[in-house]
Amino acid sequence: MHLRNSLCGRLAAVIGLGLFGVVGFAQGPAPAPLMVHQLKPNVYWVEGGGGNSGVIVGDKGVIVVDAKTTPAAGKELLDDIAKITPKPVTTVILTHSDGDHVNGLASFPAGITIIAHENNKAEQEKALAAGGRGAPPAGHLPTQAIAKNKENLKIDGVKVQVLHWAPAHTSGDLVVYLPVEKIVFTGDIIATQLPDPLIHLEKNGSSEGWITTAKGIVALNADQFVPGHGNVLMKAAIEKRLTEAEAKRAKIKELVAQGKSLDEIKSAVGEQPPAQGRGGRGPAFASFTEVVYRELTKKSA
Ligand SMILES: [Zn+2]
Repeated sequence: MHLRNSLCGRLAAVIGLGLFGVVGFAQGPAPAPLMVHQLKPNVYWVEGGGGNSGVIVGDKGVIVVDAKTTPAAGKELLDDIAKITPKPVTTVILTHSDGDHVNGLASFPAGITIIAHENNKAEQEKALAAGGRGAPPAGHLPTQAIAKNKENLKIDGVKVQVLHWAPAHTSGDLVVYLPVEKIVFTGDIIATQLPDPLIHLEKNGSSEGWITTAKGIVALNADQFVPGHGNVLMKAAIEKRLTEAEAKRAKIKELVAQGKSLDEIKSAVGEQPPAQGRGGRGPAFASFTEVVYRELTKKSA
């Protein structure tokens, strides 16, 4: 009796675990719905499903900034846009090549204009050639590559300035500025889940370039800044992040000059935990301290 009970118990536990395994790992928890926030009569930002997206309603069509992580999230973004306006999405501007800003494009209509910095385009082509999980959707590579550091575009009657100062988060960052609405979409130059800038050395980002870029952003005549992740910020918050990053970088530089090791520098500056890869499950990215150290000592990973 006792044996049978415990066997039953064990069987039940195994079945339970099995079910949990199937449900828990194959499907995962249902993703939270996207949240749409209005900034101006014709400008919105959409939270969730990856990086923040911008939605700008023009005369005849819609301009989207960044396209979420998965085809499902990209589709949900399009569904949310359809609730705002019957106008079709005609243009997407990508702030950089990371999958959580790009891969939702798989659900976007064919033939739309996709604007990205030329280095972003090169990074996507490289990732596509390498293949595997996280590769960008083959049918939606950038159709318009930006090579200049500043381009004044007029898309669907909307004035849009795309800006690139230097490699920063990645080598192909684009900051999207709406001069009439005084709104900036910063991409992951600013991502508020981390106090420090996140630099992808593997995409030739640069901490010095980040500082140049953040200075460029605060010099824009704007009062709402949509970061790549996190809530809308005012200029003072960007200035604070810039000041802190400059001070930290200067301190690290001083310690490197004194011949300190990376571990010594990390403890001296108060190391921040490294950011996780997409979805919080991927590999950890190098911390700002480590990035600056490697840049200044030219040491590879
Ligand atoms: Zn990113």
